[in-house]
Amino acid sequence: MAVGEFELIQKYFARSELTAPEGKASPVALGIGDDCALLDIPSGMQLAQSMDTLVEGVHFPKNAPPFALGYRALAVNLSDLAAMGAEPHSFTLGLTLPDVSPEWLASFSDGLACLAKQFKIALIGGDTTRGPLTITIQAQGLIPTGKAMLRSRAQPGDLICVTGTLGDAAGALPAVLKGECPESASNIHVRQLLNRYWYPTPRILEGQWLRRKGATAALDISDGILGDLRHILKASDVGAEIDPSLVPISPALKRTFHPAAALKTALTGGDDYELCFTIPRDLAMTLPPEINDDCKITCIGQVTSESGALRDSRGRLITAKAYTHF
Ligand code: ADP
Ligand code: MG
Repeated sequence: MAVGEFELIQKYFARSELTAPEGKASPVALGIGDDCALLDIPSGMQLAQSMDTLVEGVHFPKNAPPFALGYRALAVNLSDLAAMGAEPHSFTLGLTLPDVSPEWLASFSDGLACLAKQFKIALIGGDTTRGPLTITIQAQGLIPTGKAMLRSRAQPGDLICVTGTLGDAAGALPAVLKGECPESASNIHVRQLLNRYWYPTPRILEGQWLRRKGATAALDISDGILGDLRHILKASDVGAEIDPSLVPISPALKRTFHPAAALKTALTGGDDYELCFTIPRDLAMTLPPEINDDCKITCIGQVTSESGALRDSRGRLITAKAYTHF
């Protein structure tokens, strides 16, 4: 690697806000600087690992604001940890840059640090290369051995629930493609939708809470609930019956779209990074309506034994196409 790149890493990525998030003893035995990082894994814990790549022009538009990019790139990885009920541990960053702009790097690094501090996750290494703008993050988390929420653990009779509201980030897409960001949007509802797109909240605390409460299967909704729920059905070899009208929709989405378009966006739009989980009915009855002030729980249906079949509450098979008329 060139000397310039070494300095770049030192200045923008080996900063303590990223490498040593406050408030917790360092879980990292050796971080940035050597050929490898070294991690101590406490006994009785499993290391959960996940990777996501964001490519300019594919996963985010050209000239996207760098602070938001840094934030979002880490958020989508943390969301995968949340879906298994993991506690964030550490992450690595693969960065491919077309050129080196100090302003861009400073702002990108601030966006990463903002979320890294919030969830106390340490940057422990990475790789820096030249080419079309691409951001790859691999995140690691800890889960008590054998306790992860797996897509394959849903049981017939379990209730199917989601956190938060769905469709907001997808509702922001027309504005995102026009280059709008929350700071520039004049309409308050569009601003709220844009915030959900650029600054998704990984449901980390909620994921761990649900794991302890006995949720069986879970995933984070990145491609729309109708599509993502099918992943659980397939992995668990079960079916589901849901009432699409129960899917939680935010006031901002309702005020920005006609009811039919808002419902379709909530059912098929991705990028919100809320959790969908299944939980035995008796345990579901013990859950409060909200996990915290910012995260309500909504039950939208139940798991059935009819392998692979997704039906509405009147028993009709649901295909994504069947809902385009809403
Ligand atoms: P090597 O040549 O051994 O692959 P590098 O020269 O690429 O090592 O990186 C030197 C150190 O800087 C390593 O510890 C690596 O993990 C770290 N590093 C490189 N790029 C990044 C980055 N984008 N973010 C964080 N750490 C990085
Ligand atoms: Mg390298």
